[in-house]
Amino acid sequence: MCVELYYGTSDTCSLCGISSETPDHIYSCTHPAALESRTQAATIFCDTLSKKTPPSILSALITALTYQPSKSIEVDHEDVIIKQHELGHFSMCCGHIIKDWLSAYKSAAGTNNTLQGCTDKKARGWLVQVIRALWRYSKTLWSN
Ligand SMILES: [Zn+2]
Repeated sequence: MCVELYYGTSDTCSLCGISSETPDHIYSCTHPAALESRTQAATIFCDTLSKKTPPSILSALITALTYQPSKSIEVDHEDVIIKQHELGHFSMCCGHIIKDWLSAYKSAAGTNNTLQGCTDKKARGWLVQVIRALWRYSKTLWSN
């Protein structure tokens, strides 16, 4: 038996007023204000990572973050995006990312002029930055 306490308030989304305000709904609400909030959060996410992330990896990360199975994937690293999505969209928003991102990053960084000489230590440092950026993305959505 699941006990839900809302202390006299409704559990419906304060923006759309249609669905329960579950974590999954926070990341998928179609109300214009929610869409705008996710766009702003995604922009901050990209700005945070853009200097140290190869463009193909950054595109793949943002695609994974906004991935919908009904849409086709039109960026590189499709296999990583699909594998990441198998964990569930909410997992990525919490910073739970698959280690395949590290391999993809190291491969892409090796061909990027500004990131050449990528060591395992640098790659792990990059991964920490990705997780922090994901947490910031989620915090932005929950704050708005
Ligand atoms: Zn909603």
